[in-house]
Amino acid sequence: QTEMGQIVGLAIEAACQALIEAEPELTELDRITGDGDLGANMKRAALVVRSKVESYPLDNISETLRALGQTLRRELGGSSGPLYAVLFLRIGNVLAGSGSTNAALWIEALDQGCRAISELGGAMPGDRTMLDALDPFVKSLKKVEGGLSRETLLLAIKSAEQGADSTAQMKPRLGRSSYLGDRVLGHPDPGAKALAIWLRAVCEILAD
Ligand code: ADP
Ligand code: MG
Ligand code: MG
Repeated sequence: QTEMGQIVGLAIEAACQALIEAEPELTELDRITGDGDLGANMKRAALVVRSKVESYPLDNISETLRALGQTLRRELGGSSGPLYAVLFLRIGNVLAGSGSTNAALWIEALDQGCRAISELGGAMPGDRTMLDALDPFVKSLKKVEGGLSRETLLLAIKSAEQGADSTAQMKPRLGRSSYLGDRVLGHPDPGAKALAIWLRAVCEILAD
């Protein structure tokens, strides 16, 4: 296995571990703002992914992301399942379409991943969803010229976390939160929180 493949494996494992540890927090948040299943759904899928990491073609990032998308399509429940599936399938497809994986291509792939989520679920930034963590992350990466340095990644993950926290003031327009209306105000969106949690774990591995 190449050094890159090793890092990819470590990043996926770190993301899984972070979601497993966040299960109580995510369950509580989704209990208040949704139907309470997000923590358990994420934990279950994270356990499956962790058990499969070694079977992914880790030296090939785009193929690994597509395999991850397929695993999540089958194993992740709730609205998050198909949304995460299209996210990783799209990112993998964009990266596969080009030979190199430079910073500009990664940003393009992440941008397309956001678009895939919007196409499937109809949400835009500001609608109180996982996109409110992912979109600020991508926008922050875009602002920086050149490569994806350690500093760039850590700034971007801060933007994702701020984005996730800012959902506490957003009105729900889609999904189960919308049934609860203004009662969710003051609490952040669990899907946005979950995204920021696993993304921080990934960034910390990559920035290392
Ligand atoms: P469910 O609401 O079906 O129980 P989950 O608990 O798995 O689904 O996931 C809820 C999270 O999914 C929300 O907190 C939100 O971040 C995200 N979500 C729900 N609907 C959408 C959508 N249409 N577009 C993007 N994200 C969404
Ligand atoms: Mg739920
Ligand atoms: Mg549900």
